[in-house]
Amino acid sequence: MFAGADAYDLDVAVAERDVERLLSVGPDDVDTADRLTFARNVFIPLTTACRYTCTYCTYYDVPGEASLLSPEEVRERCRVGADAGCTEALFTFGDEPDARYTAVHETLAEWGFESIHDYLYRACEIALEEGLLPHSNPGDLTEAQFAALREVNASMGVMLETTADVDAHSGGRRKTPGQRLNTIRAAGRQGVPFTTGILVGIGEEWRDRAESLLAIRALHERHGHVQEVIVQNVVPNERSDFPKPDLATMRRVVAMARAALPEEVSVQVPPNLSPAAELVDCGVDDLGGVSPVTDDYINPAYEWPDLRELEAVADAGGVPLRERLPTYARYLPDECRPAGVAPARDPDGREAWIPAAVRERIADGDVHGRRLRAVARGDGPLAVRSD
Ligand code: SF4
Repeated sequence: MFAGADAYDLDVAVAERDVERLLSVGPDDVDTADRLTFARNVFIPLTTACRYTCTYCTYYDVPGEASLLSPEEVRERCRVGADAGCTEALFTFGDEPDARYTAVHETLAEWGFESIHDYLYRACEIALEEGLLPHSNPGDLTEAQFAALREVNASMGVMLETTADVDAHSGGRRKTPGQRLNTIRAAGRQGVPFTTGILVGIGEEWRDRAESLLAIRALHERHGHVQEVIVQNVVPNERSDFPKPDLATMRRVVAMARAALPEEVSVQVPPNLSPAAELVDCGVDDLGGVSPVTDDYINPAYEWPDLRELEAVADAGGVPLRERLPTYARYLPDECRPAGVAPARDPDGREAWIPAAVRERIADGDVHGRRLRAVARGDGPLAVRSD
């Protein structure tokens, strides 16, 4: 049983024999993928307020210092991103700001929003209006919150990080593995295409890595909603001195992810944090969201690579590079799926994975709709600038 699971009546378990089998997997046991994909996004840190204080995190700001983007700022960033050919508005914040963030709550109230999640809904609408598909990472959510937010999101996500109870999740208010697994389960129950992942090097053991990957697999087998699993190494920063895991560690854990997960679930490494070219032969098939117009606000000291560098990673693996939407092709409506891509099984209790507002955005006859459909079909404008 994982720490914190009792509080959520969590029914996720992994078998000891599966853990042992996965712990024996190495890079030689998996195949290189036949392609590498990425999504072009604009990164929108809606607020830097977070109720937690994870020791490796430089994203959150303390009460009194946390930022909150206005609707006008959200619209401007979306417009710049759409003009630059992005398809995804990546909305991030930590976890629901608690009562200490009085300024954030007062500002939201002045703008007419009861909560940060109400505001996120509006921000997603703005993104759709400006021609982008929202992909929100708003920390832990309940099923009711997913039920509301799914109506304006193309896909959503939260990092599991680890099923271990590590000291890095420190302080009086600390997130628990049970809470994160409950969020992933809630997303599945609400039929939300979902991104999750593990964070390597925050004090977890090899066994914890295996258990984390198998817990994600168990939830995907139940709901069919996990589209990709990020294998992310911790990086040193001004708040922590966790060493970056070495290459051998990352090669082994990426191979374990590939072996643990069903073929349809992508294994992603972030190319601004990981030695991606040296991991391609361990089963990586996705490089995640990369922004031509904004920083990685989670890891601001680590710049995004440009498209030419992504192509170099793909070349290192001898595979082609392809642009994708934030939502993986199997969850898209029939008219948007490339030939040869089978649809995902039906979501739990829903008619479709993709909500009407997002379907309409993709189907629109404007320049944005045409761009989204081209990327969805796999013939997007993968333009590598030569100047
Ligand atoms: S890692 Fe996430 S939950 Fe932890 S402090 Fe940072 S933003 Fe908050």
